[in-house]
This record gives sequence, C-alpha cells and structure tokens, in this order.
Amino acid sequence: GPGAGGGADLLRARMRLSLQERLWAFYRERVNIPAEEQAAARRAALDICAELRVFLHGKLPDMPLREMYLSGSLYDDLQVVTADHAQLMVPMVLEKNLWSMVPGEDTIMNVPGFWLVRRENLEYFPRGSSYWDRCLVGGYLSPKAVLEVFDRLVAGSINWPAIGSVLDYVIRPVVPSETLTLEVQYETDRRLYVDFLPLLAMEDGGALIAKPHRAAAARHQNLWRQSFRAAETARLRALDGEDGGCRCACLKLAKAVCKLNAALQRLNASQLTNALLLLSDTEGDWTQEALADRFLQLLRALVRHLEAGRLPCALNPKVNLLCELLEPEVDELGYTLYCALSDPEGLLRT
Ligand code: GDP
Repeated sequence: GPGAGGGADLLRARMRLSLQERLWAFYRERVNIPAEEQAAARRAALDICAELRVFLHGKLPDMPLREMYLSGSLYDDLQVVTADHAQLMVPMVLEKNLWSMVPGEDTIMNVPGFWLVRRENLEYFPRGSSYWDRCLVGGYLSPKAVLEVFDRLVAGSINWPAIGSVLDYVIRPVVPSETLTLEVQYETDRRLYVDFLPLLAMEDGGALIAKPHRAAAARHQNLWRQSFRAAETARLRALDGEDGGCRCACLKLAKAVCKLNAALQRLNASQLTNALLLLSDTEGDWTQEALADRFLQLLRALVRHLEAGRLPCALNPKVNLLCELLEPEVDELGYTLYCALSDPEGLLRT
C-alpha cells in the first residue's frame, strides 16, 4: 500500500541524504585544495616559466615561438587533492603557405579528433625553408620529433641545478617521460610536475597539441591531438554560472575519486568533463541538494559509455574519447564503476 511505499521512499531518501553529506564532506576535506597551496604551486610554475622564456630567447632566438604560458586545472580551479601539476604551453608558429592541417577522418587512420600537419609547396620552398622542417617525418610534421627537439634542450642543455639554486628549488627533468616533464621540488614536502606542451593554433581558434596518440603504429605517431579543453571548461563554467549549479563540484569529486582509486586512474579530466556536459544536456537540476543524484547519474552514464565503447566529445560528437583505451582497460573501468553503483561510498574510502 501507499504506507509501505512511503516508508521505503523515506528510507531511500535518508540513505541518499547521507551520501549527499558524505560527498560534501569528502569535497571539503580531500578534493578541495587550500588556496595557499594552490598559490605556492602557481608561483613555482611561474618562476620556471620565466626562466625558460629567458633561456629560449637567449639560446634559440630563431625558433619561431610565441610566448609560452601556463595552463591546466591549476589555473581553472579544477585541480583536486594536491596542487601538483601544470602544463607549460609552447605555441609554435607555422608559415601559412608551407603547412596544411588534414583532419584525421580524412586519413587512412580515420580518427576524428586527431590531425596530420602536411608540408606543402616543397617544390617552391624546399626542405629547410621552414624552421620546423627538421621535424618532418614522411612529409608530415611529427609531434614526436618536435618533443625531441624540446627534450634535447630542456633535458640536455639547460643547467637546471644552477637555475634551481637561484630559485631555491630542486628541478630535474623526469626520465623517462612520454610527455616532457620537469619535476620541481619547491618546498621540502611539495612537488610540482610541469609538462611541456607544444601547440599549433588552428584557424578556427582551436589548437593542436603535441601529445601523441597512444597507438604504437608508426603512422599514428604523426598525429596531432585536437584540444577541446578550453572550450569544454568554458562551457562547464558558463552553465554553472547561469544557475549557480554544482557541475564543477561534481566534476572535481569524480576527478578526485579517479585520482585516488588505482583502478580508475585511466579516466582523465576530458572524459569526465564531457560525460558531465552530456549529462547536463538532459538533466536540469544541478542545485547543491542534487549533488548525490547527479554524481550517481554521472557514474551510471560512464558505465553506459564504457559498455558501448563510446564517449562522444560534447563539442564534436564524431570524436570518441574512449578510442585510445585498450579493451581490458575499458573492462576494468566499467567493472569498477559498475560495482561502485551499489556502494558509492566505497569510492570515498581511500
Ligand atoms: P587534470 O590534469 O586531471 O587536473 O586535468 P586538466 O584539465 O588540467 O588537463 C590536463 C591534461 O589535459 C593534460 O594531460 C594535458 O596534456 C591535456 N590537455 C589537452 N589540451 C590541453 C590544453 O589546451 N591545455 C592544457 N593545460 N592541457 C591540455
């Protein structure tokens, strides 16, 4: 009868309420980073960025670069748990008439979201006409070769101990590193990892970054990755701005849970952000009181995407954000999240 149903509803409501309380407590205690810690990390990153600018201008005045800048979750108030990483964006300048960008879906690899950068007009402007010709592989600008150029510089010819002692930091390149990463110890118990991320501006205002596709095949190694990060983050912020919603809080909870649970570490900020943006299309209530419901819904949505092997990018649905995961990785993520649906609080016991 209605009485029994009401009782069950009430019990459910009480359990839901307690998940809600636990999520907010976890958010305050583990997810959120104290402002002082964030400021210290930003200061260290800025010091390194300034040193590198001076070094590159002095050592390689011909290298066609625009001014480097710092970016990432540390600057968008989306970093979680510890303030420990940032990206150093290195915008490369390409001569318009010498290079063209070919979308991944128009190539033999057929991968939307990735691009080839082809060298054009070699007959009129022979090899060597562009500074970046040294990074050509099979007629295409290779992100790997670009990273190697910076790797030789950063790991090979910068006197990090000397710069570190001036700044009172311990700085060392992380080896081996897939991306090019500096480890900066700026206080006895605080470390910051700074990734070098060379990028190419696109005509529509977007960007391609030198972060190679995970596939080992040689032809995949020439692909540049389209970055949707700035647009995604802006959209998320704008939505929260319109209704005072908890989307960013929900995202940060999910990021923290993935950072703290070994079985979920393969899920990255971009996948989580887009799953949340897609959920936002169909779900209107993002009030603080709805956090637990939305968090559970996000977990369910992720399970569904993993089962389907497809998580479309909210800004370009042709892009599948799961395309670089291996099948056993997809299975493990899906299984872990599926189990978490019946014990979501287990995710917070880390
Ligand atoms: P978090 O590292 O999980 O806190 O998430 P971020 O939002 O800071 O994303 C950083 C990751 O996104 C790195 O792995 C970057 O390589 C990658 N990424 C892709 N595009 C961009 C971009 O435009 N800027 C930055 N900073 N990172 C990007």
